[in-house]
Parts: sequence; C-alpha cells; structure tokens
Amino acid sequence: MDSVIGIDIGGTGIKAAVVDVDQGRLMTERRRILTPRPAAPAPMTKAMNELLSSPEFEGHAMAGAGFPGAIKRDIIHSAPNLDRKWMGIDGAATIGAAIGRTVSLLNDADAAGLAEVRFGAGMGHEGVIAMVTLGTGIGCGLFVDGMLVPNTELGHIEIRGKDAERRAAASVRERKKLTWKVWSVRVEEYLNALDRLIWPDLIIIGGGVSATPEKFLPRIKTRVKVVPAALGNDAGIIGAAMWAHGQASHA
Ligand code: BGC
Repeated sequence: MDSVIGIDIGGTGIKAAVVDVDQGRLMTERRRILTPRPAAPAPMTKAMNELLSSPEFEGHAMAGAGFPGAIKRDIIHSAPNLDRKWMGIDGAATIGAAIGRTVSLLNDADAAGLAEVRFGAGMGHEGVIAMVTLGTGIGCGLFVDGMLVPNTELGHIEIRGKDAERRAAASVRERKKLTWKVWSVRVEEYLNALDRLIWPDLIIIGGGVSATPEKFLPRIKTRVKVVPAALGNDAGIIGAAMWAHGQASHA
C-alpha cells in the first residue's frame, strides 16, 4: 500500500493528512492551520512546516500540494487570494525546501477533481465532468473521460459585470452574511453560466459547503446534474497526494 502526504493550501486554511493513494482515503486525522496574513511564501511555508511537524507525518518523504492558483510545471502563475509574492516562483521547490520533502504541485480544484473522479462522486461516469470548489474563491477542475484538462480558471468568468467568485464563493456568503437562499440563487446563476460555456455531463461541488449540501443544492435548478463531493472537503488533500504519487511513478 502506498501512502503519501496530501496538503490542501487555501486562502483561509492549510490542511494536511497522510493519504492511502490506492484506496483514496485519509490514513491519519486531518490537521489544519490558519493561513497566515499576509499570505506570502515565507509565513505560509513556515506554517506548513509547523503543520507537518506532527508525528504522523514522520517517515513520509513525498508530498503533493494543491495550490489556489494556476500552476505550470511547478511555477505559480496566479494566486488571486494570496499575497502577490507567490507569483512566478517555483512553488514545489519553495514548499519542498521548507518542509524537507519532495513536493509535487497542482491547482487545488484540479486536485479535488482527481480524487472525486477516481474515488468519489465521479466514479464510473464518462464524458465531461466539472469539479467546482466553493471556498475562499471558486475553483474549477475539468475532466474528459477521466483525463484532467489542467488550470481551467472558470471561477473567474464574468457574471453581472463581476468576477464570478466575488459573487458566489462560499466566503462571500459568510462575509456578506447572505442567507443560504440568496446565496443559492447566485450559485445557480453561476452553474448555469458555466453549463452554457462547457456543457458538462456532471458537476461535482466541493469545498466546505459540500458537507451540508441540503442547505443549498435542493434550491438549485440546472440542466446538468449537480452532486456534492463524496469525499467532502478531504478531496483536495487526497487528490494532491494522488498527483504526487502519479508524478513519482512517471518519473
Ligand atoms: C483561483 C483558482 C483556485 C480557486 C479555489 C481561485 O481564485 O484562481 O486557481 O482553484 O480560487 O481556490
């Protein structure tokens, strides 16, 4: 059985656990630390090192990390909800040096989607699947017959003249104290706009809100089937570990 550390780097919190990548499940309890402010590389990698100093991570030399921005060959090209100092740097090397492990990096929603498509709500589905994470921002992971199309930044499509994530991310509901009903209308509008652009066969909703789908999903009417992430908020951690494991076996 192969086990790898999975890290989910978010604008609000950083989470990690040891993952059984063959079964797609956490082997240790999920640990979480608040994302420091400013959310710059130095304080954040220090926080990651602290997070990984827990005894259960000992002996694990490999980690995968999901990052809230566009990543190409380990280089960070965007980080809208973090400090600008992340831009243009080699994120895998920077995080790897801080935590003393080999790190593979990918977009956080792509990571969540990998886990959901293989082990969760997308299991056994063919065609086009969109993973949509509703958290601090809106993340999107696109899969065609199980193959990832990386870095689809469709959380930033324009709705009513605004970046969609500024209207419909889960953080907006909390910050503006919107009721679930009002927020659901915004999410529905967003999902329908996304549907008109990519016509997916299934949309999987991830992020913290996927733990309480009854609060908003029954209110949402869409052509396309929309389901909550089966792995909940652990999907990002599991997918990041799966990615690292896959990278190592293709090396
Ligand atoms: C970023 C995405 C990320 C999403 C969720 C967006 O602001 O542009 O890359 O996946 O937030 O964290």
